Amino acid sequence: MNYYPEDVIEEVRLSNDLVEVVSEYIRLEKKGGGYFALCPFHREKTPSFSVEPVKQFYYCFGCNNGGNVFHFIMNIENLDFPDALRLLADRAGIVLPESNNRDEQLRIEARKNILNINKEAARFFYSCLAGEKGGEALKYLQNRGLTNSIIKRFGLGYSPNEWTLLSDYLLRKGFDESLIVQSGLSIKNKYGKLNDRFRGRIMFPIFDIRGNIVAFGGRVMDDSLPKYINSPETPCYSKGRELFGMNIAKKSTENKLLVVEGYMDVISLHQAGIDFAVASLGTALTNMQGRILRKYADEIVISYDSDTAGQRATERGLEILVQLGCRVKVLQTPDGKDPDEYIRRNGAKKFKNLIDRALSLLEYKISLLKKMHPQDNPEGKLAFLNGVADLLSEQDNFLEREMVIKRISQDYDITEDALHAEVERRLRKKRRKQKNNEFYSAQNDLTGAVKTYTIRRQENKMSRYEKMLLALISRENQLYQKVADRYPPSEFSDDTLKEMASILYQKLEEGSDFALEEYITRLDSERASSIVHMSKTICNFDEPDKALEDILQKLEVLKLEEEKKDILMRLKNITNVEEKKQLQQQLQIIIRNIAKRR
Ligand SMILES: [Zn+2]
Repeated sequence: MNYYPEDVIEEVRLSNDLVEVVSEYIRLEKKGGGYFALCPFHREKTPSFSVEPVKQFYYCFGCNNGGNVFHFIMNIENLDFPDALRLLADRAGIVLPESNNRDEQLRIEARKNILNINKEAARFFYSCLAGEKGGEALKYLQNRGLTNSIIKRFGLGYSPNEWTLLSDYLLRKGFDESLIVQSGLSIKNKYGKLNDRFRGRIMFPIFDIRGNIVAFGGRVMDDSLPKYINSPETPCYSKGRELFGMNIAKKSTENKLLVVEGYMDVISLHQAGIDFAVASLGTALTNMQGRILRKYADEIVISYDSDTAGQRATERGLEILVQLGCRVKVLQTPDGKDPDEYIRRNGAKKFKNLIDRALSLLEYKISLLKKMHPQDNPEGKLAFLNGVADLLSEQDNFLEREMVIKRISQDYDITEDALHAEVERRLRKKRRKQKNNEFYSAQNDLTGAVKTYTIRRQENKMSRYEKMLLALISRENQLYQKVADRYPPSEFSDDTLKEMASILYQKLEEGSDFALEEYITRLDSERASSIVHMSKTICNFDEPDKALEDILQKLEVLKLEEEKKDILMRLKNITNVEEKKQLQQQLQIIIRNIAKRR
């Protein structure tokens, strides 16, 4: 695991405040000296996930997942330690030194080379577009209203309809054949020769947020299929991590981002002066993309196609963004056309008006209800109004609720009072149900506590007290002297604890600090969780001196009891009278020692 020096790892940990990092994934609520949230690692209705800002630990009392910022990222992003370290280093703007691990070096090297290959390929495509082979493609783009400066800003290009043009070019430039294949730009055919993946297509380079070209999208100019093809996943590119146009949109002065479906939408929006448009590349927005959006803007406007797939993607995107705490709106073009087409027909100004009039989440849901229930018969009308009352009763924003009630009652010719009454009836029902739920969840909590207690009891008692001992002296360093001789590292019952004890003892012997939050970085998630849990228990002791004595005595008793068990076993098998007598004497001493400590 230690590809990097420990002080670098610790610098990365210290530079990423756990509260801030966790807040990028879930909504934290401050309570006393800590923060609570619904746990992202198990399903629950009442928050049992806690973050301690001072100690920089998190712990879930429901599923016992815990640790420091590295464990959190490893768990939530499903990454191994080196990747979590890289993500957090990036986040904090720390440049990691060259790793001394061979695999790691190769991976970094490959990434760098593929980025270079992509850059070279983008130049190639761009020059093809400007050259004699690109005449038709250039005309196509110009016909769609794109100016030369926007073509340049997005680095658009053209891949001529030939089999080996780019592959040959890259080989001539001296790039390694296997890396060219890894970049996804070329495919090895059955004769072992390289063929170009993109042929006869308009090329869209996909930039990451830092401006590296990580992949390409290619579009045909006629109706042939597939309309679009993209780079495959490579060491530089994984789908769902990038947003097309984000490298430009992040510089926009507007505090909002407009999310659309396709490359061409983004480009024509930017040309129309809407410089905060990005595309999610593939229909549904991912969690990762949601977090990037939230990082750069407070308000996110989604404008997907109005077909079924687009509508489903809109709903999924809304769900993700709302969960991340974004303000979201939905923009639908009146004629159901995509933004690119709408702008070409109606002009940029009209589209800007649409952005200003984008629907709030509530209004959008009501518009869906309208579509679902045709209004031309009484049943449809009633179903629609019931649906609206349901939605309104879930709406926290009082003002918006009032506004919608006013508008709906005008549009559908019913009194405001009647609609109010329907909403109020639902709210009363909800409040009643909530009360019942609180009662049941209190009961559940009780049985839950009993369950965890029995599980913990089955856990090896010895290692449990040993963990408490380590957690205690790592908090109260001055207690170390009392422990050093009475419970040396060799006494510990398993290897993890032995190792932790010897490192801890050594540091304290040298008089240097030992921070538990730093130490657990080297532990896997499960072991880190159990140490964090122990440290939380320890914090409840008011008198650390007494607690220490208590733990040491308990451990000594456990050791003596093991010895006792051992002697009793041996006694059963011994016939020699003299030996028997000796063992019995030993047993006497042990029993007395146990009694003394109780
Ligand atoms: Zn949990």
